[in-house]
Order: sequence, then C-alpha cells, then structure tokens
Amino acid sequence: MALLRCGKITIEGESSSAIATYLRVRELDLIFDLGRCPMNFIGTGHVFISHFHLDHYFGLPIYVSQRWLAGIPPGMICVPSEGVDQLRRILDEIAVLDCGMEWDYHLTAVQVGDIIPFRRNLVAHVLPADHGVPAVGYMICETRQKLKPEFLGLPGIEIAQLRRAGVEVSNQIELPLIAYLGDTQSIPQASHPLLHQCSVLICECTFLMPEHREHAKKTMHFHLDSLPKLLKSIESEHIILTHFSRRYTSEHVRKLINAELQPANRSRVHLLI
Ligand SMILES: [Zn+2]
Ligand SMILES: [Zn+2]
Repeated sequence: MALLRCGKITIEGESSSAIATYLRVRELDLIFDLGRCPMNFIGTGHVFISHFHLDHYFGLPIYVSQRWLAGIPPGMICVPSEGVDQLRRILDEIAVLDCGMEWDYHLTAVQVGDIIPFRRNLVAHVLPADHGVPAVGYMICETRQKLKPEFLGLPGIEIAQLRRAGVEVSNQIELPLIAYLGDTQSIPQASHPLLHQCSVLICECTFLMPEHREHAKKTMHFHLDSLPKLLKSIESEHIILTHFSRRYTSEHVRKLINAELQPANRSRVHLLI
C-alpha cells in the first residue's frame, strides 16, 4: 500500500485504473472511495464514494459487514444520490447471502453543492465531476470561528461578556484541507472558490501517452496533456496524481510525468502508484 505524507496529512492506499481505488486519511478519519477494503480501514468512520464504477466502491460490503460483526456503530457513507437505492438493494442481498440477516449501515445520498458536516469541525463540499456515469468529487474543509474585525484587540473578558449577552462576536471560516476529484476528465475549478487553494489535491491522471488521447476522451478520464493547465490554475501545496492506466509501468509513469514538469513544480507533484 502506498503512503504519502503531505504536511499534516497522510494518504495511504492504492489507486489503479479499473483495478481498485481506496485512499485513507487517518488524521481526518476518512476514506475516499473503497474499491477494496483492507482490514485496517474498517475502523475509519467516514467514507466518501465518488461513483459506482466497481473499482471505486466494491469494498463497501466488507466495510459494512466487518463493522457490523465487530459491533462498531455504522460509519457515515456518502454516495452519489443517483445510485443509492440500487446500492442499498445490493448490500441487503449480499447480507442475506452472507448471514441470512440484515447489516446495520447508513448511506448518505449526496448531490453536487451539498455541504456535509462531520466530526466536530469538518465539512465535505460535494463537487461536480466530468465522467461517463454520475460522479462527484469532495473537498474537505476545517471550520473555525474567527473574531469579527470590530472586536479584534478587545480583552478576553470583554469578549466573553459580549458572548454571554448574546452578541455574535465571530464568523465561521473554512480552511480547505484536501480535495479528491474522483474520476473526471476535467478539473471542476469554478465549482467552489476555495478549491484552487486546497492544501492537498488528489487528481486522477489515467492516460499519459499522445496515442491515448482519444481513449481518454471516450472514457472521460484525465490526460497528461491537461496537467500544465492544472498546475497553473491550482495553488495547492501538494498535488497527488493517481489512477494510472495499467498500460504503463511505474517507471514509465515517473518518466513521462517528470518530463512534463517544470523544476518549480517537481516538489509539489506526488505520484501515488
Ligand atoms: Zn476509476
Ligand atoms: Zn470511473
């Protein structure tokens, strides 16, 4: 399993086109996609599924059943609303086959534009994706309370008094921590004003060679040709490229991408192979 450290965030998992994508951020207690479910992912409380291609969600029955067997309360599982009823039927049928009982689980149907609060101070913004089936991406932000400018510099005791008197002394702000774009042939830049500042951006880069441009278009996947535009328009400190086609060896992927990167971008682009 790959492990990448990006500042305060660690991403572990795997992503290979058509095989499986499953990425965990332990610090945020979340998983992006669950094409397979390693046993050490079972305790993670929040799962964000991008779309219903098998390699992105087929670890869910393991996740759900293992939590149920171990007596762990259901995790939060966000899935695109277009497939939620079918998914529920599939999970229920597998449960009957597996043990003749019902598993305890909870699905949250999401749509582009939704804002899903989770844990004490995190929200997931649901982003659009440009793929062959209904698909979404997710941007995770930390929420913080920031003192309004008119109260800056006041002693703490006075601020506490104002609070007790019911005065709203602070605004909520959001810090964009990590975005996972799922499978998409283009970057949904205009979908949220904070996206271009997100500290960590995970983007698929399935196809790399000029002769695979047509196939990238047909299957609605990102092509290396679009990388320079992405690097120019996104300020992220860490850009993680992943979901490479099995046509390319790891060595080939490294060589092709390195050849495309200006020296200034080499330290902020990471490959999750
Ligand atoms: Zn995929
Ligand atoms: Zn897909």
